Amino acid sequence: MLDADFFRRWMTACAASVEREADRLTALDSPIGDADHGTNLQRGFRAVTAALEREAPTTPGAVLTLAGRQLISSVGGASGPLYGTLLRRTGKALGDAAEVSEEQLAEALRAGVDAVRALGGAAPGDKTMVDALVPAVEALSTSFAAAKDAADEGAIATTPMLARKGRASYLGERSVGHQDPGATSSALIVAALEEADG
Ligand code: ADP
Ligand code: MG
Ligand code: MG
Repeated sequence: MLDADFFRRWMTACAASVEREADRLTALDSPIGDADHGTNLQRGFRAVTAALEREAPTTPGAVLTLAGRQLISSVGGASGPLYGTLLRRTGKALGDAAEVSEEQLAEALRAGVDAVRALGGAAPGDKTMVDALVPAVEALSTSFAAAKDAADEGAIATTPMLARKGRASYLGERSVGHQDPGATSSALIVAALEEADG
């Protein structure tokens, strides 16, 4: 079973991973965006870490809804509301249980990813974070490790895609040949689940 501490470790691992990879995320956002994805997520996950320390939520659902709120309020870019919605909707689906099973998490994250799709209007193949998140939640019923591999593959698979949502879509054909920054950060967020578990 997964308790509030597991979810706190997940968010802390996301924050650490974003700090490590911020330059790479920003570099990916340079040719097909506005070169701020790393700094956007750094600002967001620093706010998440601070809020979790300040408010010390005691259930899995409360950890994720607090984290989601912080991302929405602290990140100016598109990724803030999208990742904020992912975590808030996932947290809401977990309810106020003190512990949840891996299966419940997989189901809740599916609802979270559906909410991201509803908010941003992106479908798989549009070269967005959705391309890493959808295969990850499908593989999550197998294991965290399988979800990580699926997210990594999903992120890499965005390279030949033509962007149909977000800033990269303004480039049309010129968006082809670059890996999507949001799909790349989604793979980090999914990988952090395994780190929180280990
Ligand atoms: P901004 O584009 O506002 O500068 P970021 O650089 O932080 O925001 O995030 C860009 C990432 O957000 C993209 O790489 C893409 O994965 C994701 N994204 C943008 N628009 C959408 C959308 N409508 N649906 C899903 N993901 C999106
Ligand atoms: Mg950007
Ligand atoms: Mg921006």
